[in-house]
Amino acid sequence: MERQLPLIVAFFSLLLTTCSAIPDELEKWLDKQNIEDHDFSKYLNYRDTMEFLQTRLERCHQVSETLCRIQTIGKSYEGRDLKVFNIGNEPGKIKRSIWIDAGIHAREWISHATALFIIDRLVDEFGNDPEIDDMIRTYDWYILPIVNPDGYEFTWTNDRLWRKTRKPNPGSPCVGVDANRNFGFNWNSVGSSNDPCSPIYAGPSPWSEPEAKAIKDFMEQSTFNWILFITLHSKGQLWMAPWGYTTERPDNYDKLVNKQRHLLISS
Ligand SMILES: [Zn+2]
Repeated sequence: MERQLPLIVAFFSLLLTTCSAIPDELEKWLDKQNIEDHDFSKYLNYRDTMEFLQTRLERCHQVSETLCRIQTIGKSYEGRDLKVFNIGNEPGKIKRSIWIDAGIHAREWISHATALFIIDRLVDEFGNDPEIDDMIRTYDWYILPIVNPDGYEFTWTNDRLWRKTRKPNPGSPCVGVDANRNFGFNWNSVGSSNDPCSPIYAGPSPWSEPEAKAIKDFMEQSTFNWILFITLHSKGQLWMAPWGYTTERPDNYDKLVNKQRHLLISS
């Protein structure tokens, strides 16, 4: 079981295809051309994802100067920006805020793509689709498409199935922490490991990893009225609700399950 803050954890499993039978230079050129009108037929690496966010920001600014922002909430261990795409910012208007993140497990590429797809639809359909308008006018959306950029880059360059972060572990030949096991809520109690070589290594202490801590700090330091936290994974086709560390149900379990049923029926 995945362990998380007292939050909804969502798992998505979809399929995208990648093309590898064309020369590298041509592929780079095609990728470059596709950022503006990216059709989600290919995955985007870290660099192209950052460019994708910028193009959607500029597109959003054509409609409204204030509605969208990109906020850098911290840096990964190797120094990559953790960029959150915000849509729904309306100065002076009190709104409830929704958090969506993806890619805490580096190899789960479809989760990153799902987050980008959500951004793409929200930006492109605002002003065209009354349902999207309502979602944006009612809520303030914060979407972090790459929680673990060092691990994600490593899956592109070295090991497609890399899962953890890339921070070395002193005294161990093994690198990285499962950032999804690094959150401080009931840290390292169930479903995680003390072994730095384990794929579910929880880290030396809660919030030891800059990627997890950046999310914590952003949520705690912001004055937003958070009402929902969704984390996208691709381990299985499941909607998962708290808790992961115990079989005991949270007080609002029935409400959570009803909400999930509603989401599944309407999706
Ligand atoms: Zn995962």
